[in-house]
Amino acid sequence: MGEGREQNEAFVTLATNDTYALGCLVLGSSLRRVGTTRQLAVMVTSGVSQSMRQQLGGLFNQVVEVNVLDSSDTCNLELLGRPDLSVTFTKFHCWRLTQYQKCVFMDADTLVVQNVDELFDREELSAAPDAGWPDCFNSGVFVYVPSEQTYRNLLSFAVTGGSFDGGDQGLLNLYFNKWATEDIGKHLPFTFNVVSQAFYSYLPAFKQFYDNIKVVHFIGAVKPWHHAYNTASRTVTQLPGTGHSQQFLQMWWNIFMDSVQPNLDPQLYESSVVSQNLSCSGIAGDLANMSLERSGEDGAMRDDRERKLQWEQGQADYMGVDRFDNIKARLDEKIAQPTPSGSGKAPEDQPPPPSE
Ligand code: UDP
Ligand code: MN
Repeated sequence: MGEGREQNEAFVTLATNDTYALGCLVLGSSLRRVGTTRQLAVMVTSGVSQSMRQQLGGLFNQVVEVNVLDSSDTCNLELLGRPDLSVTFTKFHCWRLTQYQKCVFMDADTLVVQNVDELFDREELSAAPDAGWPDCFNSGVFVYVPSEQTYRNLLSFAVTGGSFDGGDQGLLNLYFNKWATEDIGKHLPFTFNVVSQAFYSYLPAFKQFYDNIKVVHFIGAVKPWHHAYNTASRTVTQLPGTGHSQQFLQMWWNIFMDSVQPNLDPQLYESSVVSQNLSCSGIAGDLANMSLERSGEDGAMRDDRERKLQWEQGQADYMGVDRFDNIKARLDEKIAQPTPSGSGKAPEDQPPPPSE
């Protein structure tokens, strides 16, 4: 029985780009570290590079390419008209992994700190309460039973009903709408999906139950991989306003630096430079090349990227670095010294100057 379950049950995660794939690598490494006996599967879409797929293949038992529009049923036409639901639908593809009898889906921004194989003793749909609205479950960690029929039901439900939050969590809570009331066995303890901001909402409980925490979930727009890491002191620098616990961020980065970063293909960096892709997908390349940077990881380049991220999220530091005279000075500087033509490089991609 035991051996069968090891083959027939899997942890499943998802990445639609190289940046989220970094999260999958840390999640997968964290599962290996706690000695899971189950299979590891990662779903990827066309947005994940070949090089990154190879990295994933070294860690996961299965790398499955999924495509929203390959579901070969009548929902496809309606789906085409709802591009907003595309990532949501991609997550639902996990129900199609029918080579497994039972699975645990985990978001790419989760981290396992203690073995959670006992989750496979639970039934569909088991999940932990959402910290923001505990009558809903959080869809970052859930136990489910793969089934083409459920997949199709979810699709038609989504197309006809829609989600109340625009994402998979709203949809899944409407679909599995008895979760809150029917069977307490389907309520996973909160320790199986602790939001990284939990200390903020209930510090005494956080301290009391800290040792029981099994899974940490970095919800929100700013993920651990967006933070700067100082290789000299081996510490992560918290970004203001995200609320992620420093301790949890450090855990994520410890695993990233120990198990993931040393194996990252520097080609990720090359491709991000060549394509001048300075948005999120460039992060994977930056991080792949950390060791080559030698020093100054917490220097100008990283500061710049952090700032850009905050800016993109509407968190411009209007009183500080982003105040108008600084922006103007920067513009003036750019106008006065045009970048050499043909270099194809933006400032963020240039190696930082050697420091001390
Ligand atoms: N995801 C992805 N690409 C995206 C957005 C989301 O691959 O652009 C996947 C990834 O597995 C992620 C999950 O969908 O963990 C849910 O999104 P996210 O974790 O960002 O949502 P949150 O937990 O912050 O609500
Ligand atoms: Mn998440």
